[in-house]
Amino acid sequence: MSFEKLPLVGLNRDEIAETLQLVGIPIRHIQMRVRQLWHWLYVRGASSFDDMFNLSKELREKFSEDFSITRPKIMTDRISKDGTRKWLLRFSTRGNAFPVEIETVYIPEKERGTLCISSQVGCSLTCSFCHTGTQRLVRNLTAEEILLQLLVARECLGDFPGRNIPDNAIVPVKGRKITNVVVMGMGEPLYNFEAIKKALLIISDGEGLSLSKRRITLSTSGVVPGMYRTGKEIGVMLAISLHATDDALRNRLVPINKKYPLAELMDACRNYPVLRHRITFEYVMLKDINDSADHARKLVDLLKGIPAKINLIPFNPWPGTNYQCSDRQRIEQFAAIVNTAGYASPIRTTRGNDILAACGQLKSLSRSASKKMSD
Ligand code: SAH
Ligand code: SF4
Repeated sequence: MSFEKLPLVGLNRDEIAETLQLVGIPIRHIQMRVRQLWHWLYVRGASSFDDMFNLSKELREKFSEDFSITRPKIMTDRISKDGTRKWLLRFSTRGNAFPVEIETVYIPEKERGTLCISSQVGCSLTCSFCHTGTQRLVRNLTAEEILLQLLVARECLGDFPGRNIPDNAIVPVKGRKITNVVVMGMGEPLYNFEAIKKALLIISDGEGLSLSKRRITLSTSGVVPGMYRTGKEIGVMLAISLHATDDALRNRLVPINKKYPLAELMDACRNYPVLRHRITFEYVMLKDINDSADHARKLVDLLKGIPAKINLIPFNPWPGTNYQCSDRQRIEQFAAIVNTAGYASPIRTTRGNDILAACGQLKSLSRSASKKMSD
């Protein structure tokens, strides 16, 4: 029978302490060992116990036998003409018969670098303009797998102390290579709340990866019950995939709207506990569907009383879609109306289109176990 090593990445400090106790580390040493491991894993980005030179050789060997801190397999690593980079990662997680694959995207700009991470393999929702929505939900990612996306990306970009920046890395001119994290990849994060919460609390931990909560944004299609908890228990910035200003259209574009209609969604936004910062509303520009001046005015009405920023996202086509992106002039007219009403309304630059890394284009070939068995 094969013995499965215990995963360490993704555990909070108390859980690491419990795990250390399980493998017989003396109680009096536990707090010190937790501190050491936390530092190696999250400040230094160690992926092997051999690197942990302030632990004795015996302890390094023991930890290697008992614990796993291995990285997922990088199946593909593609860099777009514009520097956007996309990794396809394969996780063959414990006890799971089928390995799963997910995509993680890095978007470098001059003064910042944003990592877009996935929360699920596939998605149980079926937004009609989203490529991920055509793929069934295979499973939730674990906190470990969510975190590993950031660890792998920082490793590939030379973003841990003492590491060199690899020749092929396109990164901001100075400072950290990953300054922002957005949970806008595959999946609906609020349908995987506990794992996302754990991972984001570790990402924002000041003695580890140390990314400010103001630089972490979680995007939801509108899972109302999870929104308040996101503010209260995680405290990160919130983005809402709005895309429509009336229930009839939103039901068609973002079907979860039938469960949590606009009035409830907007109330949840007004009650978001971190409201001193603006909420971002994402609005995908779909030609002749949601892009008229009238829609723009309705959007302004809808947002009254909410500190908001509206991100206009040009629709990114994918093989098989029936939607088209609005004309540039339409998008600009829309932006101008929203902007005149006092809201920032940047038009998102499409990045990484040539490697299918833009918003809504992510998809993996992982299939659900049930599908596989019936093949
Ligand atoms: N499931 C979450 C987060 C992932 S989607 C959510 O829906 O919010 C990240 C953003 O990309 C969402 O606003 C989503 O609506 C948008 N998006 C999806 N498909 C798109 C496409 N084809 N073109 C442009 N944006 C898209
Ligand atoms: Fe899922 Fe978000 Fe895509 Fe909708 S837009 S199908 S919620 S990933």
